[in-house]
Amino acid sequence: MNAQSNFAKNSLIFSPSGVRGIVGKDLGPEEALRLSLCFGSMIPQGTVVLGRDTRPSGEMIQRLVAIGLMSTGHNVSILGVAPSPAIAFAVKKTGAVGGIIVSASHNPPSWNALKFLGQEGIALNEAQISALRNLYISDSFKEVPWTSLGEAHDLNLLDDYRKALISLVDVEAIRKARLFAVVDTGNGAGSLVTPKALEDSGCQVFPLNVELDGRFRRPIEPTRESLSDLTKKVVSLGADIGFAHDCDADRLVCVSEKGEVLGEDLTLALIVDQVLSKRKGGIVVINVASSMVFDDVAERYGAKVLRTRVGEAYVVEKMIETGAIVGGEGSCGGVILPDHLYTRDGILAALKIAEALAHLGRTASEVFEAFPRYYTARGKVPCSGGEAREVIEALKICHSEEKLDLTDGIKIIGEKEWVLVRPSGTEPILRVMAEAESPRRAEELCKDLLKEVLEILSRRLGK
Ligand code: MG
Repeated sequence: MNAQSNFAKNSLIFSPSGVRGIVGKDLGPEEALRLSLCFGSMIPQGTVVLGRDTRPSGEMIQRLVAIGLMSTGHNVSILGVAPSPAIAFAVKKTGAVGGIIVSASHNPPSWNALKFLGQEGIALNEAQISALRNLYISDSFKEVPWTSLGEAHDLNLLDDYRKALISLVDVEAIRKARLFAVVDTGNGAGSLVTPKALEDSGCQVFPLNVELDGRFRRPIEPTRESLSDLTKKVVSLGADIGFAHDCDADRLVCVSEKGEVLGEDLTLALIVDQVLSKRKGGIVVINVASSMVFDDVAERYGAKVLRTRVGEAYVVEKMIETGAIVGGEGSCGGVILPDHLYTRDGILAALKIAEALAHLGRTASEVFEAFPRYYTARGKVPCSGGEAREVIEALKICHSEEKLDLTDGIKIIGEKEWVLVRPSGTEPILRVMAEAESPRRAEELCKDLLKEVLEILSRRLGK
């Protein structure tokens, strides 16, 4: 391979949630192969688990990644199409030295990504990703001689994964509650596990968008707008709850029996509430963009909330460091339970929600309405990394008199309200997000900050 060839080395986005780009533009066969060669060069010898979501580029990238890993002397256990948490589970269960998930998660079908896992299925942290990036940029990978090349073999662990999930919930209670769930896996990898896991836990299930032909019947990201088929089905079939995933099923969105799409923060808050009600006290780790509802829940049980930068790897790192009993990211709904895996699991979250409904013996809307209600507003501005840093520095000066959290970008905190400005880890944009006790106030906070960001950017251009 010619080191001088024209790689789009700098257009790939490196973050602990994956090295991602648009296939054929930023992430082509050469980049995929090279990334796997670099990863293989930085981990110990042994077996690496490899799996992917259902997007059409997955098979091509998976094959190249397997070749790269074999070239660095690693045996490769190929799980094929599998939810991201199942791939992490397989790494932990088989004692592999690492894993690669070929998935761009909630991004559109034209995107793909490689997410790198270390031992125990824990995603590489920022420092490790930065080391990988350095190897990639400097072409510093190490192929082994032909006598030491690795081998690839298929691995089927989805049944074990599903059984492990079921062992974490009260099947008897769920069965007794006779819950009926509509499950929209969005033609993603969750199709292979979620419907059956819920059935085996005692739910009646109506599956939606479970075809695995690389065609997506709804936008991959499960949002209020993209889930209209699910909400209609829940109501028309008289189901108790609806569940939806993104393409790799580490994310969960719930729909109440009334067809209302519930905020992912609330989904996670209900699970945290259930965990804390049994353990009392302890530490909950979430990210800075997660709702104030977690503070309310934690207060109820004398637990402590810690907030990290946005990104699963940061939450996991803090959970391990502090011995937290539960964690997650409000915007994703997937839960991290250390007894299971140090990774977000949207399928476990669905099972835990079913369990909570069974234990509480109330409808989904009654259960969720019992939580304090906050409203969010979001906006974004296209912005390079350098511009984003300048904007945040300028905002720090403008708001120096206010209560600030600088964990990730800048969060300006008021009384029962906040607004956060941070660079996206996965796209060249600056995200603005606000939360308040009324939708109007959240919109107002978001709009004001967006205006401020645009003013700072135009002043910069005017220089
Ligand atoms: Mg995902």
